[in-house]
Amino acid sequence: MAIDFELTQEQKELQELARRFARDVMAPRAAKADKLGEFPEDVYRKAWELGLMNLNVPTEFGGSGLGELDQCIITEELAYACGGMTTSISANCLALQPINLAATKEQKERLLKPFCASYNLASFALTEPSGGSDVASMKTTLKREGDEYVINGEKVFITNAPHASIYTLFATVDAARRHKGVTAIVVPRNTPGITVGKDEDKLGHRASATSSITFENARVPVANRLGEEGDGFKIAMNTLDSTRTPIGALATGIARAALDHAAKYSLQRSSFGKPIGEHQAIALKLADMAQKVTAARLLVWYSAWLADQGKPVPMESSIAKCFASDSAMEVANEAIQVFGGYGYMREYPVEKLLRDAKLTQIYEGSNEIQRLVIAKELLKRFA
Ligand SMILES: Cc1cc2nc3c(=O)[nH]c(=O)nc-3n(C[C@H](O)[C@H](O)[C@H](O)COP(=O)(O)OP(=O)(O)OC[C@H]3O[C@@H](n4cnc5c(N)ncnc54)[C@H](O)[C@@H]3O)c2cc1C
Repeated sequence: MAIDFELTQEQKELQELARRFARDVMAPRAAKADKLGEFPEDVYRKAWELGLMNLNVPTEFGGSGLGELDQCIITEELAYACGGMTTSISANCLALQPINLAATKEQKERLLKPFCASYNLASFALTEPSGGSDVASMKTTLKREGDEYVINGEKVFITNAPHASIYTLFATVDAARRHKGVTAIVVPRNTPGITVGKDEDKLGHRASATSSITFENARVPVANRLGEEGDGFKIAMNTLDSTRTPIGALATGIARAALDHAAKYSLQRSSFGKPIGEHQAIALKLADMAQKVTAARLLVWYSAWLADQGKPVPMESSIAKCFASDSAMEVANEAIQVFGGYGYMREYPVEKLLRDAKLTQIYEGSNEIQRLVIAKELLKRFA
């Protein structure tokens, strides 16, 4: 028996822990945090206390030391309650993965251990105002002066930026070298010369904070550089290869929530003398939604399972992220349709799911970029 979809006892326990946290702590706060654009820091602190943050950091450096499939199981559960809170919780995994991948043991001891030892947030600072998809065109500069780098430039749309204590920054030592100039460095938030912009007013994920970061002659020790000068592009891409699949899990959680709300409502709401779920047009919608949720989860688990075996997954992770996020949009949209006019009202939970689903098609590599990656990997096989 080569394939086994049964979760281990430990995975079932993790799933139950995340499900309970999502139901008891996140869900009761989700609607208000979304409405007011609140950043529920006590919820994030509690996630850290339960070991639901820093999932990908090895235990010897204070993280949960979990594999990718474990991370996906947890992420789907959290996102079932609130996509925005899950984005802020997961942003630590995104920001810390470059350190996991490229830091020396000394750097991990110095940068990861104290960070993980108490509640802290981190940000992954890659995107610039002139474009997020074309990473190699970045303009933020790192100029070496003795034992320090001097940083100048601006990053935008950075999750958790106002609340993070460290930024994993990608900047260039020579813009003319395009991707070969990109360099990764860990920047403490309290470095003089750093200004965090306003908290962006967003369509969805409103419980998460998103801001620009401006660097004006900010000085950071060379000792905080990850890898060598010019390694940053590869570090960023390898990071996204491993965090893309959990974004698929996040999208699956949103889609599953939309399906469950729609299914329950279809049994409660009647028209023409019977529950709307018994009208074939609605039943078929629910069947299509269920197919998408199930397929999304299986693609996510497959990609995560491959990654946990050390296999490269550029194509599988792109397929998982792209399919799951497109599915989340479609399923949330149909959930609103099942709810009819009530679905359009903020008082009901499904319109938030559509707003939250949208981001999953955009961030951590837009779905257009995912399709380019999938096509490139596919065509390699026939070249
Ligand atoms: C709420 C939120 C949180 C975010 N958090 C972070 C974060 O923590 N850290 C971080 O670094 N970034 C973050 N981002 C940025 C996000 O990753 C980028 O928005 C995304 O990568 C797209 O970049 P862009 O917005 O500059 O769009 P652009 O790159 O300008 O693209 C615009 C459109 O053109 C398409 N496009 C671009 N190039 C091509 C091409 N070659 N072929 C086909 N289509 C193309 C894109 O798919 C998109 O539809 C966040 C964004 C949001 C909205």
